[in-house]
Amino acid sequence: MKKEKKSKRILVIGTGGTIAGKGDNFKTSDYTAAQIKIEDLVNEVCENTIHDNMDTIDYFNIDSCDMTSEKLIKLSNYINKVSESEDYYGFVITHGTDTLEETAYFLNLTVKTQKPVVITGAMRPHTALGADGPMNLYQAISLAKSEDAINKGVLVVFSDTIYSARDVSKINTFKPAAFGQKDLGCLGYMRDENVFFYNSPTKKHTIYSEFDISYLENLPKVEIVMFYPSADIKILDYVSKDCDGIVLAGAGCGNVSTSWSEKVKKIISSGIPVVRSSRIANGVVTYNEKTIHEKGIFAENLSPLKSRILLSLALTKSTNLEEIQKFFLEY
Ligand code: GLU
Repeated sequence: MKKEKKSKRILVIGTGGTIAGKGDNFKTSDYTAAQIKIEDLVNEVCENTIHDNMDTIDYFNIDSCDMTSEKLIKLSNYINKVSESEDYYGFVITHGTDTLEETAYFLNLTVKTQKPVVITGAMRPHTALGADGPMNLYQAISLAKSEDAINKGVLVVFSDTIYSARDVSKINTFKPAAFGQKDLGCLGYMRDENVFFYNSPTKKHTIYSEFDISYLENLPKVEIVMFYPSADIKILDYVSKDCDGIVLAGAGCGNVSTSWSEKVKKIISSGIPVVRSSRIANGVVTYNEKTIHEKGIFAENLSPLKSRILLSLALTKSTNLEEIQKFFLEY
């Protein structure tokens, strides 16, 4: 790495994923995730570039499908610890793409810093022809060094685009342009190392968030149940025996059948909060404060995946349905 000019110090935290994956030369499929050390990936994109003055840590080395609540808590607490150091201007996290959106939202709600925190990954392993990881990592480091990224909550950079942790979703199973914010577009673009912001997050995040996980080892257990015509109601009985909360991925505006509605009402009255989100990608599940005790808390425009993260954090503060609904309107 070039040492002659010192720029803002960045810590790159590796967690594994395809960006550190290896497979047959040139091939984009049939590879193993989480094989390459983060230091090697960073050195590669920093040689002969504007980037230096960087530290790295292989914090996890996992396929992101093996991410757990315990690991999320550890990662967030680690970022909170290192972000107190004046040494670091910002942070980059490399992550498998499969569950990146959940980790991004969890960190957005639990990391207590205004410093830039940027997550990226890759759709093609390091050994593939046209691997996307190096440019994504280069741009994530560039964004973490940008003053424009301060106080924007956790950001995701992927395929030349900046996304908010709250609204980003994986929208393609294999193409390099695998992420999007659906109807909401994006926050901005990257062109090489240059940063172009056009939008800002409007919901509470990071230092404005009231969720404190510093004392936790695990999270309340929240399960997602998808509704579809003829869906067996026994799935609700099964899930409600062993969970602290349920997220329904309902049809349309979070709707379920008459028999499911009856069952949901019983589950709520037994003390298990139910959130109604939608299996539809775009739109809002409309808020109606009169029906949250019967139909469930309304997820606003959060996907079932994001609703699970917010409900599990909300349950660390309260089991009161009105209070949880307030979280869903604010975060
Ligand atoms: N399933 C792996 C993971 O999420 C590979 C997917 C990826 O990183 O693109 O880590």
